Amino acid sequence: MKIHEYQGKEILREFGVPTPRGEACFSVDEAVAAAQKLGGKVWVVKAQIHAGGRGKGGGVKVAKSPDEVRQFAGQILGMQLVTHQTGPEGQKVRRLLIEEGAQIVKELYVGMVVDRASQRVALLASSEGGMEIEEVAKHTPEKIHTVRIDPTTGLTGAEASKVARDIGIPDVANAEAVKVLQGLYRAFVEKDAMLAEINPLIVTADNRVVALDAKFNFDSNALYRRPEIVAMRDLDEEDPAEIEASKFDLSYIQLDGNIGCLVNGAGLAMATMDIIKLYGGSPANFLDVGGGATKEKVAEAFKLMLKNPELRAILVNIFGGIMKCDVIAEGVVAAAREVNLTVPLVVRLEGTNVELGKKILADSGLPIISGNDMADAAQKVVAAAKGK
Ligand code: ADP
Ligand code: MG
Repeated sequence: MKIHEYQGKEILREFGVPTPRGEACFSVDEAVAAAQKLGGKVWVVKAQIHAGGRGKGGGVKVAKSPDEVRQFAGQILGMQLVTHQTGPEGQKVRRLLIEEGAQIVKELYVGMVVDRASQRVALLASSEGGMEIEEVAKHTPEKIHTVRIDPTTGLTGAEASKVARDIGIPDVANAEAVKVLQGLYRAFVEKDAMLAEINPLIVTADNRVVALDAKFNFDSNALYRRPEIVAMRDLDEEDPAEIEASKFDLSYIQLDGNIGCLVNGAGLAMATMDIIKLYGGSPANFLDVGGGATKEKVAEAFKLMLKNPELRAILVNIFGGIMKCDVIAEGVVAAAREVNLTVPLVVRLEGTNVELGKKILADSGLPIISGNDMADAAQKVVAAAKGK
């Protein structure tokens, strides 16, 4: 689960990481009032969307007067902001962060992710922060320093101090940088983050170390014990189909192909997408209906897939282990009748009571195409999607 920058900064402050003072706003008038309340001479008007690259996309503007705050807030609020992370359709801006302008001497990068290979949280840091970090990673990866943090000790003072020196933080600011890095690590662990990023982390003219941006992504499996994180959820930023799916306990991810997949088990769902690709097709979604694929769940899954205007065919690939194939077949038939399917449906069943399941499909009178095995089903659905 992702959150906005201003919410990320609230978390950082809680863990002792300095950020500029600022306020979240939902209207132009609120933005101007926030700037007046903050005082000072320079403000930054920042679009709040769940995607990075806002600066380059025109979503971050420096204002030198309350009039400019009004002007920029008016421009940014409601705009369809396109960045390299939003896709070409962009994301509508509904919230702003108005914060005091910082005096930047140097822009650095620090981030943390879960590194599966070492089974540790990895700290990534670079002297080359700001809006070009993707380019740095691509062309000069040696400029990115990595520390794989031992979970029994946490990020030690010595490690943090060395990283701070490696990325060029001046010695006078070293102690503060250590506090920032250790604070970020504690926030990461205590809030069950999967990713935390400060880009840029800046050194100011008076040698303070300040987080100018904040990005967090939280492990959704841990949200049950993080109500304060769940409270930060902004459904406007999430895919409506995925929100709908989560209500029915379906794991659904929208993709850009045209073959809908309905599968039980995440591993089989991945394999199903692979084999569709292998035979020249392209999946419209990932969908795991889980172990207990009831008629209601299958019907909801069909409805979700059918909302996608790109959809040309559906492949149901079910392994009946604990679930019996006849029960699943009945569910598929009932769901197909209920939702009035408008695209070809290929079904591959395997496992307990498979013969009975196939008979139910055949006797249903519905134009269901039966797949004998995964390869056969994949070839049939790819052909069906192409209208063959
Ligand atoms: P994004 O990463 O989405 O482009 P950032 O929050 O990193 O958005 O802002 C982009 C750039 O704008 C930063 O690299 C920094 O140069 C500048 N900036 C952001 N916030 C401030 C601020 N409070 N004061 C001064 N400059 C800022
Ligand atoms: Mg940034």
